[in-house]
Amino acid sequence: MTTVDVPAVTGPVPLVDLGIQRDRVAGEVAEGFARVLATTAFVQGPDVGAFEEEFAAATGRAHCVGVGNGTDALEFALRACGLGPGDAVAVPANTFLASAEAIVRAGARPVPVDVDDEHLLLDPAALDAVAEGLRGVLPVHLFGQMAPMAAIRDVAERHGLVVVEDAAQSQGATHRGVPMGGWGTAAGTSFYPGKNLGAYGDAGAVTTDDAGVARAVRLLANHGSEVKYEHPVLGFNSRMDTLQAVVLRAKLRRLAAWNAERAEAAQRYADLLAGVPGVRLPGVAPGNEHVWHLYVVRVPARDAVLADLAAARIGAGVHYPVPVHLTGAMAGAMAGSGPGAAPVAERAAGEILSLPIFPGITAAQQERVAAELARAVVRRG
Ligand SMILES: *Cc1c(COP(=O)(O)O)cnc(C)c1O
Repeated sequence: MTTVDVPAVTGPVPLVDLGIQRDRVAGEVAEGFARVLATTAFVQGPDVGAFEEEFAAATGRAHCVGVGNGTDALEFALRACGLGPGDAVAVPANTFLASAEAIVRAGARPVPVDVDDEHLLLDPAALDAVAEGLRGVLPVHLFGQMAPMAAIRDVAERHGLVVVEDAAQSQGATHRGVPMGGWGTAAGTSFYPGKNLGAYGDAGAVTTDDAGVARAVRLLANHGSEVKYEHPVLGFNSRMDTLQAVVLRAKLRRLAAWNAERAEAAQRYADLLAGVPGVRLPGVAPGNEHVWHLYVVRVPARDAVLADLAAARIGAGVHYPVPVHLTGAMAGAMAGSGPGAAPVAERAAGEILSLPIFPGITAAQQERVAAELARAVVRRG
């Protein structure tokens, strides 16, 4: 198919529609909120502990510690794994800024590593090339699929690197059947509202099999304290709200079904866009179960195509327009890593385009997105 007829649906299509999920859990959340209001256990109430147990079980890990957001989760995981001042930690060049930010906040130095051209995930060969002198690596499970963790772990073992996973975009994803936190010493994840498992505000968690790491994270997140008013170490205030735990418990029960809806939507895009010249479709890396946090295609003249989609009221996005090492925020922290440090990520940044995807997106909405995209690519390509 080289052209797609523009279907009858003409309304706007948002990049994400969180209202659909909200409505599906409305009753359960209202009951849970009422329970929390009745008891006034607003911080670290019983729902937080229950969610931690349920999320640990869902990801096959021994421990889960709920924290205030995903960036804190990553920072605390890095610190708890012993990474800090003087340590160089590799991070993929194509990721959300927070991956690198967490490394800086832990006191370590982020080192950008290029991604593979097919999946835009941390490239194990590129990691291997710079591994001498590194102490750790923060692979990012981007767009809903895990980084090639078996190969990354091989490189890490050969060079003695500590592995902490950024699993903010991959709740429910697996590599060779093993979910987040099962490859590295620990994983940090985010429950920002738009993630596959999203709260009604900020929240995050660290998962690990290491009891010492879990305990260290718990201390860091709660003023260095396990027993009230005993502060053996310096920490932060980054605890999970009980109300967020209520939302997350209700949504976790539905996560697998919602991820299946995302996979169905991804397949529909693949069918609709197959054969549209100029549109490069996303693939699933070997060994991966993909949970389609984002559906990222690559197109020529991306900014013009994006403008056409915006004019057609299609909520497309770019994840991410500037590779982390080229952001102003990292100018100091990643000094010496200018343009050319990660050529694959740098080229891809000008081509990537995220299409609307969320549980509950309709076939008609996707047909309209595909038709408008095909039209824009022909016009601008
Ligand atoms: C969302 C995200 C984070 C940060 O999570 P917050 O909860 O927003 O702090 C970190 N890494 C990646 C890859 C993300 O997508």
